[in-house]
Amino acid sequence: MKKINNAFLKNYTTYKLEGKLACIYFPENVKELADLILKLNEENKKYKILGNGSNLIISSSYNGVLIKLEKFDKLDIDGNLVTVGSGYMLPKLALMCANENLSGLEFASGIPATIGGAIYQNAGAYGEAMDKIIKSVTVLDDHGNIKVLNKEKLQLGYRDSILKHENLICLEVVLELKQDSYENIKCRMHNNLLNRKEKQPLEYPSAGSVFRNPPGYSAGKLIEDAGLKGFKVGDAMVSLKHANFIVNMGRASGDDVLKLIKIIQKKVKEKTGILFETEQEVLE
Ligand SMILES: Cc1cc2nc3c(=O)[nH]c(=O)nc-3n(C[C@H](O)[C@H](O)[C@H](O)COP(=O)(O)OP(=O)(O)OC[C@H]3O[C@@H](n4cnc5c(N)ncnc54)[C@H](O)[C@@H]3O)c2cc1C
Repeated sequence: MKKINNAFLKNYTTYKLEGKLACIYFPENVKELADLILKLNEENKKYKILGNGSNLIISSSYNGVLIKLEKFDKLDIDGNLVTVGSGYMLPKLALMCANENLSGLEFASGIPATIGGAIYQNAGAYGEAMDKIIKSVTVLDDHGNIKVLNKEKLQLGYRDSILKHENLICLEVVLELKQDSYENIKCRMHNNLLNRKEKQPLEYPSAGSVFRNPPGYSAGKLIEDAGLKGFKVGDAMVSLKHANFIVNMGRASGDDVLKLIKIIQKKVKEKTGILFETEQEVLE
């Protein structure tokens, strides 16, 4: 199995973070993955599946290994049913489905996730999310067992799924989409992408929204009202365009991003009494 030691984090995180990772494994198939999980569990080694690294902040203290499922890239389209491997990229899938006149993934074209990461997080935008189109997910548990979970068993909620709570690895997903014309689908995708470009700092590396919106509030507005737009720790900066984004202006590390997050949480708490929860996941 391919394995990279001392991997540069900037190649594996959309934040393009400074620093290195001890090791990334690249299993070729389910058997290699299952054997690896069992071995790591036996050795009591910490591990995490790496999707596209678009929701991850990795600190210098993280001493686990990562496992990248880029070889899990099967795609099979049969009528309205799409079976796709967990390592497949979501924007590419949205395009492939549009080409087949299949609608349901228009919201996803600007989300730089893998399918596995999108299921784990129930990724969504514009009032849509993965839960609207999932039929079932094949997972591997940490004892090496394979199970097929239907939509109900996945406990999909706001940026949440059972994968987060039961250490399950997504192997493959079946989506159920609807027929529509290519023109209609492309038009919705185009409008969503324009909207993102206008509101989000896509010109800099980031990992999307940093904090969850507290009920009834916009996290970005609260950060802006706290006067934090443009505030920096090292090269990690609160975006001038959208205050709920932290952008990497050059050589930011995961530790810089984490320090900035703590400062934002403290300042907003002092001003409003609201404690922000991060939407991004921290590996430390
Ligand atoms: C510019 C930009 C815009 C964004 N916009 C949105 C948006 O509109 N909506 C939204 O919801 N998110 C958005 N995000 C955040 C991010 O893309 C999502 O959270 C996405 O779901 C993360 O997927 P990933 O493959 O990059 O996962 P990673 O960041 O690599 O990992 C995130 C978590 O998923 C787990 N994971 C990954 N693959 C698997 C698997 N196969 N099995 C089990 N667990 C797995 C990882 O272990 C980790 O815990 C945006 C990010 C960026 C950079």
